[in-house]
Amino acid sequence: MDFALTDEQEMLRATARQFVADVCPPERAKEWDEQHAVPRELFEGMAELGWFSLPFAEEDGGDGGSPLELILIAEELGRASFDIAMCYIGVLIPGLTTFRWGSEAQRVFIREQVMTGRHRLAVAMSEPDTGSDAAALRTQAEDRGDHYLVNGQKAWCTGGGLPDTTIATYVRTGPREPKHGGISLLLVDPKTEGIEIRRTPTLARHILGTNEVFFKDVVVPKENLVGPQDEAWKVMLSNLELEKVIITGGYLGAAQATLDEMLKYSQDRQAFGRPIGTFQSLAHAMADLQTEIDSARLLAYRAAWLLAQGKPCTREGSMAKLKGSETYVNAARLGMQVCAGQGFSTESVMSFRYRESIVATISGGTSQIQRNGIARSMGLRTY
Ligand SMILES: Cc1cc2nc3c(=O)[nH]c(=O)nc-3n(C[C@H](O)[C@H](O)[C@H](O)COP(=O)(O)OP(=O)(O)OC[C@H]3O[C@@H](n4cnc5c(N)ncnc54)[C@H](O)[C@@H]3O)c2cc1C
Repeated sequence: MDFALTDEQEMLRATARQFVADVCPPERAKEWDEQHAVPRELFEGMAELGWFSLPFAEEDGGDGGSPLELILIAEELGRASFDIAMCYIGVLIPGLTTFRWGSEAQRVFIREQVMTGRHRLAVAMSEPDTGSDAAALRTQAEDRGDHYLVNGQKAWCTGGGLPDTTIATYVRTGPREPKHGGISLLLVDPKTEGIEIRRTPTLARHILGTNEVFFKDVVVPKENLVGPQDEAWKVMLSNLELEKVIITGGYLGAAQATLDEMLKYSQDRQAFGRPIGTFQSLAHAMADLQTEIDSARLLAYRAAWLLAQGKPCTREGSMAKLKGSETYVNAARLGMQVCAGQGFSTESVMSFRYRESIVATISGGTSQIQRNGIARSMGLRTY
């Protein structure tokens, strides 16, 4: 067993850390969040570094980056904020899925537009009545020969309102029974007639933003179908583990940065004539948190290793997502206690971390759903 990073991986991490320091330090991420900004320098900077092509195989026009390398970037971006990490991760998964299952024309689109960072992808799976129970989706795409006619409503489509974005939309093309059949994946241009996008007001995650998408008699050409009609459930599952593992990187970076910030504060801030970090109650809580972060990191790196070996990692991916997301919530909660009144001020980065962290155990599959998966892998039946 070897825990060391290669020289290239160390260099990649150093580059990503410098990128965050130069382009999106946490204070700037907080400002962007408050202004609901679309920071071009962030997206262009990531594209210039070649990160959007990193996960694709070299023979496909990419750079053959491993899951661990994607985690390393996500961790560093997560130090700025999880939302910043999602500005990167959010494009990778639908890009990889489209490339794997798509037609030749769709592959050219991914290679020329998405890998170069000129164009983004967002995912619309959830609906107002279906979140965890994703396969119960109802948005209907009626087969009209050379096109589909789409009607329905999507919810929580993150990044779907940004310019130059295509929405990877899961729709029902077949009967609702069996539940996981009859689902298809369409690439939808949000500027198509009949589509309306409404931004959902949220506590945080304002850079990418999340949206409701309304479809009224929307014509989507047949060539926009990704993978086989009615079989998109397996298309969606094909990158689910990778998604869980990379987003865990974002949580880890955010949790570590939160701890680093409270640690520094605890060494500077004095009470009763000594730094507050020397009070054992706070010192032990921070020691526990570092232990928790390291545990989550090891879970994520193990899952990344399994993925790189082509081995199954459903259970390990869920463990990583569960522990990583809960650790970020715990870190932000402790950060508020350590920074106390200073943290509660909305001028503080800690208050931003607190707002942002709370949704970690919800988006990307809730903690309960991760625990269900882990329990199932142990032979326990859950509902
Ligand atoms: C910020 C944000 C960004 C998102 N981005 C996207 C996106 O880009 N694209 C997209 O398609 N979706 C996105 N989502 C949707 C996200 O995937 C869902 O919110 C999530 O899956 C939970 O669904 P829900 O909110 O409908 O909660 P529900 O599914 O209604 O769950 C409510 C509660 O019941 C629990 N529960 C449900 N079923 C079970 C069960 N079987 N066992 C135990 N407990 C259960 C849940 O854990 C939760 O606590 C996003 C959500 C948020 C908040």
